[in-house]
Amino acid sequence: MRTLAEWTALSETIEFRSQAWIDGAFHSSVSGETFPSINPATEAHLADVSSCDTADVDRAVAAARRVFKAGDWSRRAPAQRKKVLLKLADLLEQHADEFALTDTLDMGKTISEMMGIDVPDSIDCLRWTAESIDKIYGEIAPTKASTLGLITREPVGVVGAITPWNYPLMMAMWKLAPALAAGNSVVLKPSEKASLSALRFAELAAEAGLPDGVLNVVPGFGHTAGKALALHMDVDVLAFTGSTRVAGMLMGYAGQSNLKRVWIEAGGKSPVVVFDDCEDIDAAALGAAQAILTNQGEVCIAGSRLYVQNSIREPFMEALKRHAAKYVPGNPLDPSVKMGPMVDRAQLDTVNRYIGLAVEEGADVVMGGISEPASGFYPQPTLLTGTSQSMTCVKEEIFGPVLCVAGFDTEEEAMRLANDSIYGLAASVWTANLSRAHRVSRELESGMVWINGWGEGDTTMPFGGVKGSGNGRDKSLHALEKYSELKSVWISL
Ligand code: NAD
Repeated sequence: MRTLAEWTALSETIEFRSQAWIDGAFHSSVSGETFPSINPATEAHLADVSSCDTADVDRAVAAARRVFKAGDWSRRAPAQRKKVLLKLADLLEQHADEFALTDTLDMGKTISEMMGIDVPDSIDCLRWTAESIDKIYGEIAPTKASTLGLITREPVGVVGAITPWNYPLMMAMWKLAPALAAGNSVVLKPSEKASLSALRFAELAAEAGLPDGVLNVVPGFGHTAGKALALHMDVDVLAFTGSTRVAGMLMGYAGQSNLKRVWIEAGGKSPVVVFDDCEDIDAAALGAAQAILTNQGEVCIAGSRLYVQNSIREPFMEALKRHAAKYVPGNPLDPSVKMGPMVDRAQLDTVNRYIGLAVEEGADVVMGGISEPASGFYPQPTLLTGTSQSMTCVKEEIFGPVLCVAGFDTEEEAMRLANDSIYGLAASVWTANLSRAHRVSRELESGMVWINGWGEGDTTMPFGGVKGSGNGRDKSLHALEKYSELKSVWISL
């Protein structure tokens, strides 16, 4: 791993791509409008990014449709698509430092997380999915003898992908890898808070041999570029990662336009449940600290509600505070720093507002609290006790390093508390009792459950939630289902 001085020196050499990538080339937005990208650690200006709107989205969708119909990618043999995507994965690996720096500078996450999680996960997702695409077979249905029933999978057409800022490269990759591997054309609208890595990635894709128009990136705001994409009559599928509120809007846009399918990976308020029969209180406390403080708490699966069995509450809380104290916010380019700034001042203000409201509603701040304005948008790791299910801080996704802690006595009570949420993304349970582990895994209303851990993941397992957390799954072979249509062909013999 490089030193702070080396990362800082390298960061000064990056030339950001900041224009829309449409049909194989960079373009200014039709309106000529831009918006600034600001480094949240220093408040330095990084780039003026093209602000796309309906006219740009129309151009991108037209290019995507043209190449889809031409078949240069959509009808290319899967083994040939695989070759291009594997080359792209190699290029991404060769530019790992550049991509790590780009997202760190653009949205503030630590360079150690970028190098340890986001970049390797993105490469793996791309490589794994590319490798899978020429190993998937169609089916023959058990019809009567006088017919042959073929069930095949076809690419859907034009995929509109809309992604958030918290894992800019990785979230884009979880959409792009399966959508492209399946033969679709894609128009990606990255978050206005972190667009730079997606633009550079599109350029690399062209270098790898992806035909012009297959991947287009239209940076811009949600209510302009995002809405235009979601309302577009020639977009077949929307693949969205972001908040539950915006997910609902997208479903409305689909209904108002062409009934395009909307795949949603949305917000969370995930419970961490620690039973007194857990094997190691200290390991559970470390896991709980990681669950809320990784990436400044700007994580969809953040373990933001902690339920600890009352019999071990005191020693557990001592251990939790000890582990949480190691997350001292600092320069995200320093490889020893575990917590960077929030993505922008608005997100820091949101976190502060939730902490203030929690206190008004009766919670106790036992660590951290409201952050004073300073250079850079740095939060404080915050532990709230005395919280109850009716409090706003327990009900709503804060998307920051704020943990609500409450106790419980019985397994039944723990499950009732854990499931008492509009969200259902993930859950983490700490117990050494095998029967209990299986029992509560079934009981929990969430798309993912970790037993004696939090956040484990690779491309082999699906990622996604239920209830207000969404309806789709990223990663694994199941992700390909979102980007392909079943076709039934009856052949009379
Ligand atoms: P957001 O919903 O504000 O924005 C997400 C994307 O939607 C952005 O690109 C934004 O520009 C766009 N958008 C906003 N309004 C729009 C509109 N009217 N029409 C079309 N597009 C619009 O979310 P965010 O703040 O970028 O990200 C944080 C959220 O993402 C959190 O809720 C987090 O839990 C969630 N998230 C979920 C997952 C998951 O896999 N389930 C992963 C990461 C983040």
